[in-house]
Amino acid sequence: MRRFAPVLLTVFLSLGLLACDPGGTCPQCPAAEPAECPKPKVKTKVVPSGPAPAVDNGDIKLTFAEPKSAHLKRFKDQLSSSKLFAKVVDGINDTIALPRDAAVLVSECGRIDAYYEAKAPGVVICYELAEHFESLFKGRAKGKELERMVTGAVFFAFFHELGHALVDQLKLPITGKEEDAVDQLAAVILIESGSGIEMALDGARAFLLNDAKGYSANDFWGEHSFEKQRYYSIVCMAYGAAPKKRAVLSGGKNGLPKERAVGCPAEYARIKTSWQTLLADHAKAD
Ligand SMILES: [Zn+2]
Repeated sequence: MRRFAPVLLTVFLSLGLLACDPGGTCPQCPAAEPAECPKPKVKTKVVPSGPAPAVDNGDIKLTFAEPKSAHLKRFKDQLSSSKLFAKVVDGINDTIALPRDAAVLVSECGRIDAYYEAKAPGVVICYELAEHFESLFKGRAKGKELERMVTGAVFFAFFHELGHALVDQLKLPITGKEEDAVDQLAAVILIESGSGIEMALDGARAFLLNDAKGYSANDFWGEHSFEKQRYYSIVCMAYGAAPKKRAVLSGGKNGLPKERAVGCPAEYARIKTSWQTLLADHAKAD
């Protein structure tokens, strides 16, 4: 886990989401040295030239509330002691220009949930969600490995909700389901961070295990894709980012069928480039 944290600090800049794109014209990096911003190698401009660097008028403010229920206290200790939330929030505050402050509250909610409200309270991650993930994973892991999986799945949910906050605050254009788009953002950030890949897969595993509960009517008219579809989409992205390295994700029980796996490298490349483009004009000037 410690290995993962420093990577997340620079996730947006060093992992390419906002960095100079060698294939683009690098308009978002006006002060970049030539070596950091090589001449375009292709004619197609990946990142469009945008307005002047965005003005930063806000930060993400992170709070871990003390749960009232004694059985949830260990989740507060577990999540806050990982330091991951604070480090990622700092990394985003350092790289993304927000028009106003956005709160991230980790709290007892009285239900299993994670959500984003445009006004107060902002992003909310419920301790009950961590408890739910633990119940899903406890047949497959225990001890530190179980803690790692729970933290990973919570972290995926955190990036998903943060995606909603970015879409709202930055007025990002989204076609298709916003729920799918922010799943993709969460997966891209974690996959590009290298060791965060397991967190993306923990999020996917939670969807797979949740799917076993069966369907109700609102699954068909709701905003979210089916849990098992969300599982396969994340696995497709993880596989597509490095198909040789992650060949184990293709085939076998719960692996990608060959018919889907073959398109995953192109699918992942398109999704990653799309998020680069969407966020490029919102990088902080300094
Ligand atoms: Zn959502």
